[in-house]
Amino acid sequence: MQRDLFEEEHRLFRETVREFLAREVTPHHAQWEKDGIVPREVWKKAGEVGMFGFGVPEEFGGAGITDFRYNAVISEEVISTGASGLGFSLHNDVMAPYFVDLANDEQKARWLPGFAGGELITAVAMSEPGAGSDLQGIRTTAVREGDHYVVNGQKTFITNGINSDLVVAVTKTDPEAGARGISLLVVERGMEGFTRGRNLEKIGMHAQDTAELFFDNVRVPAANLLGPQEGQGFFQLMANLPQERLSIAVMAVAAAETVLRATIEYCKSRTAFGRNIGSFQNTRFVLAELDTEVEIARHYVDKCIRALNAGELTAVDAAKAKWWTTELQTKVIDRCLQLHGGYGYMMEYPVAKAWIDSRVQTIYGGTTEIMKEIIGRSFGF
Ligand SMILES: Cc1cc2nc3c(=O)[nH]c(=O)nc-3n(C[C@H](O)[C@H](O)[C@H](O)COP(=O)(O)OP(=O)(O)OC[C@H]3O[C@@H](n4cnc5c(N)ncnc54)[C@H](O)[C@@H]3O)c2cc1C
Repeated sequence: MQRDLFEEEHRLFRETVREFLAREVTPHHAQWEKDGIVPREVWKKAGEVGMFGFGVPEEFGGAGITDFRYNAVISEEVISTGASGLGFSLHNDVMAPYFVDLANDEQKARWLPGFAGGELITAVAMSEPGAGSDLQGIRTTAVREGDHYVVNGQKTFITNGINSDLVVAVTKTDPEAGARGISLLVVERGMEGFTRGRNLEKIGMHAQDTAELFFDNVRVPAANLLGPQEGQGFFQLMANLPQERLSIAVMAVAAAETVLRATIEYCKSRTAFGRNIGSFQNTRFVLAELDTEVEIARHYVDKCIRALNAGELTAVDAAKAKWWTTELQTKVIDRCLQLHGGYGYMMEYPVAKAWIDSRVQTIYGGTTEIMKEIIGRSFGF
């Protein structure tokens, strides 16, 4: 079925992104995988071609356009090149609402130009060694002392953890107050007592810097609190999580589509028993099933993008998109790997890298099980 999500301006933007990736990313990504990190200069170059912060007002260097279709274009193009190290979608899709919607005018002036220009790389630090799904179980504290908060604690699994300049840290400002005792503080690179731990060794996404962060009596100015008052952090996170989950779903469908197309081509050229493997009924049936499911997923996700743009995407809609598309992604890529035979297990074939890169998708941004909890709770049990 024809995809009717995008307009001409998105198609033009897609060309810009494609050209940028071909020039600045694809030739270098294998090296970045060895390095375990993407160089900061790439962020600046991406900022120069307008890849960050569409929703950032023009006065702060953005495009002033709130349209998630642009975000989707970037994610789809990045995924189709296999550039799993770029933390752009986290910056654009996940972090932008914190800085554009929650920041006050003084904070916007301080941070948004760098955000849009790719000079200030962002991260969100929710997860801790003892608490991931259970956000209210975090232990990092922020104690108000005059015009500062003193932050102590530890975070782990933080995307852009090494490269980030601005970290939205989820802290407890009132440990007795449950969800109402959580606040978001922007911890900045160079603040005394803020250190990075290991750039974690993962099974996939080797060029992505996923790191530990440590806060040891970090004095964060009260002026770095996001939102008008403390105690709002949990609700601010809940408000932004649907967009984060939709972002992951967009990537899931794009990855599944990319691998499926490549596998269909592979099945046309590979021969066994004197025939190409696509001529076996099993191959055609597997591909037919996957193609059907991916197309259905595509239309649901496109509808979610429209709903987000209209301000109507619910937490339940996004949870459905997140769990179903990411489980589909891992299934599609696994089946496609099988159709590659032994070559599917070789890193020189993109399906192998897609397989290891995809595994995390059902985990971060809220696990499949937590997504089902969100949906299940909506029945009113
Ligand atoms: C590569 C990577 C990047 C990440 N990036 C970030 C980031 O940028 N910022 C950040 O804050 N975090 C990040 N994370 C952390 C990620 O969000 C968490 O790993 C995830 O939310 C799961 O939390 P956990 O690891 O503590 O698992 P746990 O919460 O310990 O869960 C373990 C298992 O128990 C299940 N489980 C837990 N609670 C329930 C329940 N109520 N019902 C049923 N099953 C349940 C889970 O589904 C899972 O299967 C990242 C993780 C990875 C691997």
